[in-house]
Amino acid sequence: MIPPGSTIGIIGGGQLGRMLSVAAAQLGYKTHIYDPHEHSCADDVAAYRTRAAFESVEAMQRFGESVDVATYEFENVPVEPLKVLGDKLSPGVRSLEAAQDRAQEKEFIEKCGGRVAPWRAVASLGDVEETIGQLRIPLVLKTRRYGYDGKGQAWIRSEAEAAEAWSAIGEEPAVAEAGVAFAAEFSVIIARWADGRHVFWDSPENEHRDGILRRSTVPCSHLVAQQVPSARTAALKIAEALGHVGVLTVEFFASAQGPVVNEIAPRVHNSGHWTIEGAVTSQFEQHIRAICDLPPGVTGLIRGHAVMENLIGPEIERWPELVAERGAHVHIYDKGEARPGRKMGHVTRVIR
Ligand code: AMP
Repeated sequence: MIPPGSTIGIIGGGQLGRMLSVAAAQLGYKTHIYDPHEHSCADDVAAYRTRAAFESVEAMQRFGESVDVATYEFENVPVEPLKVLGDKLSPGVRSLEAAQDRAQEKEFIEKCGGRVAPWRAVASLGDVEETIGQLRIPLVLKTRRYGYDGKGQAWIRSEAEAAEAWSAIGEEPAVAEAGVAFAAEFSVIIARWADGRHVFWDSPENEHRDGILRRSTVPCSHLVAQQVPSARTAALKIAEALGHVGVLTVEFFASAQGPVVNEIAPRVHNSGHWTIEGAVTSQFEQHIRAICDLPPGVTGLIRGHAVMENLIGPEIERWPELVAERGAHVHIYDKGEARPGRKMGHVTRVIR
C-alpha cells in the first residue's frame, strides 16, 4: 500500500488531473503535475509541478524520482520516455499503447472478443475509395493518432465526399469505419486492482453532439441496460489483457446486434464525472485507491438518478445562474479562454 502522505505524479494537467488531485488530497496524498504548458488547470490544486515536454526523458526521470507512484490523465503521451518510470507507472504503458493508435486499438479489442464497427486502415485517398466499395457509406474517417472530441474525424455520406473528408483529416494515416446505426451510446467504467479485483459503476447513457459528450445519465434506459452485462464482460477482458491497474473506460454503441465498442480510454473519463456526487465513491477517488492499492470503494448510485452536463465553450458563462440553482453541483475547470468545443466545466444534478 502506498500510504497517505505520499506523492502521486500525474502526467497531464487538464481537468481530469485537477479532479484526480482533489480526490488524492482528500485521502491525504500530495500530487505532482507534469505538463508542458506554462499553466495547467490542475496546478492550482497540486503541491508540485514539472513543466517539461512529454518527450524529455531527463525531466521524466527527475519527475519519477520525486513521486511514489505515477499515473496519466490523457492518452496521447509518448510511450518511450515513460519507460523510465518503470513499476511506478500505473496503469502501465501497455494500457496507453492499446489506446494510442485506432487501428491497433481495434485489433486489440477484436482479439479480446469485443465487437467493433467494420473498419479498414487507410493511408491514401485510393484506400478510402476502395473502402467505400467494401464497407459502403456512411463511413467515418478517423486519424489513427491524436484524435479526441470528434477532432481528426470526417464523415463520408456520399462517394463525392471522399476527397474532401480525406483532406479534412489532413491526409494522415487513418481508419475508415462503418457508421453504426446505434439506438444509444453508453460506457462501462471499471476500476481494477493489481491482484485482479475489480468494480464497475452503473453504466451511464451518453449523448454526444458534434463528436463531443453533452450529457451522461444514470441509470441508463432499459434498452442499454440489456446490453450492459455483455459490455461489462468485454470491458473486463480488455482490462485483464492489459493488466490494467486503475480506472478504464470503454465506450459503446448499443446496436441491434448488441454492444459495439467505439473506443477505450485507459483512464478516468468524462462520462464518469457524475460519480463525484452521484456515487458512493467517485471514479477519481477509486483511481487513487487502485494505484495506491487501498481497498476498493463502494460504487453504487447514491439515490434516484444522476445527470451530468458538460459546459462547453461559451456555455461556461452560465455559471452565475448555475451556482444559484438549488442542488446543482457546478464544476469550473478555470481553463482560461472559452474556445468553441472546449470543455470548460460541468454540472451534475442528483435527483430523487
Ligand atoms: P469518438 O471520438 O470516436 O469517440 O467519436 C465521437 C462520437 O462520434 C461518438 O461518440 C459517436 O457519437 C460518433 N461516432 C463515432 N464513430 C461512429 C460510428 N462508427 N458510427 C456512428 N457514430 C459514430
